This record gives sequence, C-alpha cells and structure tokens, in this order.
Amino acid sequence: MYDLHTHSVVSDGTDTPTELAEQAAELGLTGFALCDHDILDGITEARNAGERLGVRVIAGIELSAKYAGVDIHVLGYGINPTPELDKVLAGLRRGRLDRIPRMIQQMDELGVPLTLEEVMAQVSGGSVGRPHVADALVAKGIVAHRDEAFARWLAAGRPAYVPKPTVDLVQGIDLLHQAGAAVVIAHPRIRGAAKVLTDEVLADLVTEHGLDGIEAGHPMHDAATRAQLYALAELLGVIATGSSDCHGTGKIGHELGSVTTPDGVTGELLRIISARGGAV
Ligand code: AMP
Ligand code: FE
Ligand code: FE
Ligand code: ZN
Repeated sequence: MYDLHTHSVVSDGTDTPTELAEQAAELGLTGFALCDHDILDGITEARNAGERLGVRVIAGIELSAKYAGVDIHVLGYGINPTPELDKVLAGLRRGRLDRIPRMIQQMDELGVPLTLEEVMAQVSGGSVGRPHVADALVAKGIVAHRDEAFARWLAAGRPAYVPKPTVDLVQGIDLLHQAGAAVVIAHPRIRGAAKVLTDEVLADLVTEHGLDGIEAGHPMHDAATRAQLYALAELLGVIATGSSDCHGTGKIGHELGSVTTPDGVTGELLRIISARGGAV
C-alpha cells in the first residue's frame, strides 16, 4: 500500500521528510508521496531516507490552484522540475509569505497580539501558511490547537482570513504535465471545492485537459462520497487514489497510512509518469 498525499515540515506538516519515511517503514507501507504545498525542497531528503529504509518515495507536490473563484489543490506526482514550474512555485511561496503581515494586522485589529517573529519561529521550511499562524497562537497559549485558530480566525470567511495567490487550475495541470507529472485532483469534495468540482467539471478536466486521476479516498470524504468518486473515476477511465493527507500532529484524523492506494493502482500511476518523462 501507498499513502499518496503527505506533508512535512517543509510546508505545514509536523514531521521531517525522514520521519515520514521512518513511519512509513514502521507501518509496512510500500511507499508514500511527499506532497508539500507549492514546494519540492523535501523530496531529496525523503528519497534518501526511503532508499535507506526500503520505502519507495514518489516526488510529489500539492499545487495551490483556483477554479471558478474557489481554491483547488492539485497533486503532481513524479515531478521533473522545469524552469517555468520553479518560477511559478517561487511566486506562490512569495505570495504565501507576503500575506502573513496582513494576517497579523487583522489579528491586531481583533485585539489578538502577534508578531512576524512569533509566526516565523514556527516555520522550518520554505512554504509558509495559515497553520504556522495557528501554531504561533498555540505557542502563546491563545488557542489549544490549530483547528481552534482556523475556526475562530483563519478559515475562509473568518475575520483574519487573507487569500493567497494561486494559479489557474487548467494552467496548473498543464504546468505539472510539462514537468512529467501525473496529475490528480486532491480532495475534490471538501469545503468549497465540492461546490464547483461537479462530476461534469471533473469529466471535462479529464477529456479536455488530460487529468490523470481523482483523489477519491480522503479522511474528509464520507463513505458515500468516496464510493461515488471511485465509480466516477472508473467511468472516466482515470486513476482513483486514496490518501491520508497526513500533516503529522497538525491534523487529527489524517494519520499516515490511514487511507491508502493499492500497489497495483500506484503502478498505473508510475507508468503514466514514465510515459510522460517524469521522475519515477
Ligand atoms: P494555506 O495554505 O495558508 O491557505 O493554509 C491551508 C492549510 O491549512 C491546509 O493545507 C491545511 O493544512 C490547513 N487547514 C485548513 N483548514 C483547516 C482547519 N479548519 N483546521 C486545521 N487546519 C486547516
Ligand atoms: Fe496543509
Ligand atoms: Fe489540500
Ligand atoms: Zn494536503
């Protein structure tokens, strides 16, 4: 089994890439994909640890995209970075960083004191996000955990929410394809995504833009939703994956290996990557 969607401290997870590989080995997983948000910096470390431990590591990313005004996450697997992808990712990370002072300002206006230094003290990699703001609030004893910070201030629609820059969904898919990757839409039926990623839209992404798969199994998809998405993927002739979206201790209910993809299905994914010139 593979867990095809995990995060490390390089973005908003709480485990190092090495720790993820160690845990994957302990769980007896065949392998896992490291899919940090808008960054590839953890891949080499994960690969080195995976080689040592006999765990296959797939070079992944979770790209921040937008469709119909809604944030959509796109998983790219087997990435061979291109200059264009590197440029786009650098821009997304710049935008992630630039929004932090604005969030701090909003928090200040709400009477919650927080400094840039306190947020940056929670960041160990190159991709900064709302979870690091939440972690700073936890460190100050203002909230008990990340979820509380999101519910009170940081989630979309809450008072300290500041949107981040994204790429257009179709452009994102093309960009990842050009980097040799197999492209899978992450958790298409969570929160806002569910409103815009209808069956028809997913079908169009497959037929018009060569989408390679759908993340059907995900902790935030209920059993009926998962069954519906596995059936849709089969109907469309694309891969259906299942993954935990592990963020270490940063997300309860997303434990590594709690949702998985069989080796045979992952093999299909690896064949797509090979055919496209990606990294397997
Ligand atoms: P950002 O990338 O800065 O927009 O933050 C989004 C990230 O925050 C997601 O990748 C999740 O890891 C995390 N997240 C989103 N909503 C919540 C929530 N309600 N509770 C905890 N973490 C969340
Ligand atoms: Fe995340
Ligand atoms: Fe996501
Ligand atoms: Zn994720």
